[in-house]
Amino acid sequence: MDDLFKKLVSHCKEYGFIYPSSEIYDGLSAVYDYAPNGVELKNNIKTYWWKSMVQMHQHIVGLDAAIFMHPKTWKASGHVDAFNDPLVDNKDSKKRYRADQLIENFLDKLDEKINKEVEKAQKRFGNQFDEKLYRETNPRIQELKTKWIQVNDRLVKSMSENDMAALKQLIEDCEIADPDSGSRNWTEVRQFNLMFNTQLGNIAGEEGKLYLRPETAQGIFVNFLNVQKTSRLKIPFGIAQIGKAFRNEIVARQFIFRMREFEQMEMQFFVKPGEEMQWYAYWKSKRMAWHLALGTPAHKLKFHDHENLAHYANAAVDIQYDFPFGFKELEGIHSRTDFDLKSHQELSGKKLQYFDSELNENYIPYVVETSIGCDRMFLALLSNAYTEESVPDSEGEASTRVVLKLHPAIAPVKCAILPLLKNKPELVDKAKRIFDDLKFTFLCQYDDKDAIGRRYRRQDAIGTPFCITVDFESLENDTVTIRERDSLKQERVSIAAIEKIIGDKISWKTLFEN
Ligand code: ATP
Repeated sequence: MDDLFKKLVSHCKEYGFIYPSSEIYDGLSAVYDYAPNGVELKNNIKTYWWKSMVQMHQHIVGLDAAIFMHPKTWKASGHVDAFNDPLVDNKDSKKRYRADQLIENFLDKLDEKINKEVEKAQKRFGNQFDEKLYRETNPRIQELKTKWIQVNDRLVKSMSENDMAALKQLIEDCEIADPDSGSRNWTEVRQFNLMFNTQLGNIAGEEGKLYLRPETAQGIFVNFLNVQKTSRLKIPFGIAQIGKAFRNEIVARQFIFRMREFEQMEMQFFVKPGEEMQWYAYWKSKRMAWHLALGTPAHKLKFHDHENLAHYANAAVDIQYDFPFGFKELEGIHSRTDFDLKSHQELSGKKLQYFDSELNENYIPYVVETSIGCDRMFLALLSNAYTEESVPDSEGEASTRVVLKLHPAIAPVKCAILPLLKNKPELVDKAKRIFDDLKFTFLCQYDDKDAIGRRYRRQDAIGTPFCITVDFESLENDTVTIRERDSLKQERVSIAAIEKIIGDKISWKTLFEN
């Protein structure tokens, strides 16, 4: 899987998806730029999310709040005091880690050991095997489970009490070694605030201190009454936003999985207090369906309940994706209670209450949030789409191709138009005319360089779902061949039919109906 990850990173660079930021100066750690194909894919992901949230729901509207916000925002939200990660350094390797993640990885290893025990027994006992009973009674599994529970309880307690010494002790008691060097020579664990800050104009000191927002959600909270009133919304309703967020991450070694500048797609759903758990369940299932509709296999996605709840939440779950480095958070669904609105009301002195005309009373709504990183979604889709396979070449010999099997609706380029030969002006003219017609509807590419087989491979590598080839028969009867990326099937169709054939396959409507 490590190998797949390396291949993905270099594929992204070579085929114009992602570049390291300011590469001529050797890059900037955990900051990346989206290249021409990358920006198309990213925009399509955002469109899919925006349409599914705003266009498909009558009671959800959009917002685009500024990145800079009044500094009190971050005091009220708890980010100034509590948006910390526990940091620990290894004295020998000089590598820095998040202490909680080192311990979580240790817990994952215990889980793996338990699963291995089960697998071994399954092989031994065959059809007779009762997994549930085995898990409940096998002494070795019981021992590992007890250890898991003890370590997890200590982790949750030290995190919720901000007890850094207890975290250090836990690392020592579990004999956790630096994954890089194997050394157990750790520094003390320290708190580290993840917010970037800057200054407003020429105002020096605390007065002018500004933060780059670490999440987009607060822009929604502070605008909650503005939006509710101007859009005349009744509870339950939602506000959706896509935008940049910034976090000074301690460990950022996983390409676009953990960046210091990234993009979030967040929706805050405002509900009547007491109804939040039913909406939490609703959004859990809606969001999972959103992922599955893109063709991501169900076994690569799973829910993971939070043991260690954030200061604002009364329930929280992650949708995890099986990245090349294991199952990790892709999206969070959180029941945030009335924490944020209440804190903003207290600190600003402005009422942030909703008047419920049915109940004839004012209250602060509860909030259920869905929050997904656009960049992590990009990485998940690319990891799932990247395929190396053996296919017959034009002579019928087996050859290897790299193909991105992206859903046609989100693929960067929808269709490539390829004249069979570039030195035949009639073919080139006809192909260019087709391009000029289709460009109004889809993002197309015209390509006449190299042999046709190589051109197909180039399009496969960026995930283009359709290739149109203009050949000599096209000149006689206005037909072309249309090649489908995954099946490699080629069909002869009339030029007039291309727009509809491709249009149906890439349509958002088809995707949503599925
Ligand atoms: P993690 O535990 O991985 O640090 P988180 O729980 O802090 O993530 P949230 O605050 O819930 O993340 O943010 C919502 C979403 O934003 C995440 O599910 C993820 O997709 C995305 N996200 C968060 N931090 C980053 C980052 N540094 N780089 C890229 N995406 C991120």
